[in-house]
Amino acid sequence: MRGAIAASLLVAVIGASLGVGAAHGAASGRSWQALIGNGWPTQQSGSNGLASIDLYVTGVGALHLKLRNLVRNTTYRLTLFKGPFLPPNTSWSGRAGGCDSVTDGTVIRLPARRTTTAGAIEGSIALSASQMTAINSLSRRIGLMVGSGRLERCGGFQLRPAMTTSPPPAASPNPTSSSGPSPSPQCSPWPPAIADILAVLTTPDGLCLRLYTTGAEAPPFLVEAFGIYFPDPPTIHHVIGTGVTETASLAHEVCHAHQDRVARDVGESDYTEGWYRTAPGADFVETTGWRLQGERWVEQRPEAISGNSSPLEDNAEICALWFDPSFGPRYLRRWVPVRFAWAQRWLPLPSFVVPWQGDSQATTADGR
Ligand SMILES: [Zn+2]
Repeated sequence: MRGAIAASLLVAVIGASLGVGAAHGAASGRSWQALIGNGWPTQQSGSNGLASIDLYVTGVGALHLKLRNLVRNTTYRLTLFKGPFLPPNTSWSGRAGGCDSVTDGTVIRLPARRTTTAGAIEGSIALSASQMTAINSLSRRIGLMVGSGRLERCGGFQLRPAMTTSPPPAASPNPTSSSGPSPSPQCSPWPPAIADILAVLTTPDGLCLRLYTTGAEAPPFLVEAFGIYFPDPPTIHHVIGTGVTETASLAHEVCHAHQDRVARDVGESDYTEGWYRTAPGADFVETTGWRLQGERWVEQRPEAISGNSSPLEDNAEICALWFDPSFGPRYLRRWVPVRFAWAQRWLPLPSFVVPWQGDSQATTADGR
């Protein structure tokens, strides 16, 4: 499960913007949010606050900052950077193993900002139409870096669910099921990209997809998430209309269903615990270096895609990327070689993803 954990905060942040947005009228319905700072090693994602980007109907946009816990009276560089994949709601601090490990270059260098005597940076920065085009085209691969060197703090942006009544920017892969006034009591057909995964990946028998439109129709457990997998009976619940995150979100939940199937196959009843006792689960924990400290999982040797709450979530994310034609094995090999090696050992390699290519650095694949 991966959700917009800070949704209520965000409304406040955007509402408090300093007028940059108001001058351009209504938001287009497309906006991104990022938690900034930490995440590793303390696992306190967003310890330096929040950033959000709004795209307005005129094509221009704004970056809204509500940052805290920075060094007081200090000038911080602000840079929008790209990465191979910046998992939503994850953030980093510092250089080695931190921001430097996830950046693949600068997209936009913004004017520096000086912190207040309380160590805060708040306000909005206007973004031109061409800057917004660059941001928009990167979707899942854009992040904000605050400061440089030892002061570096960063976080990856997540495209937020549409908050207006206008249609979502990306058409639903299954528009017919989204037009009904109420959710179908039956299982919905799988979108083609997900059906491709299900054709090669084992999941519990009778795995069902239940779709909901945003708003009151969605059950309470989906209020803070786009999707969730429940094992009994095996069902993926998903809120439609969440824009480009839809396929990624469904793939992530399908990968949880696969974890469940792997656990069931060796007689485990609760996959959230039992998966760790399976061969692939144990291999994942061991090779990636996750360690349980008390009741909390801690990453000991994070790679570029880090900041997940547990190996179970980390693994679902890696699995979803493996089957994502936009990323796939080439990206995993380039950015998270340990996890790539795990996926090679335990996941099928379907024909719809492009396999890694020889010894190239895979840097050419930037055009997704
Ligand atoms: Zn999950």
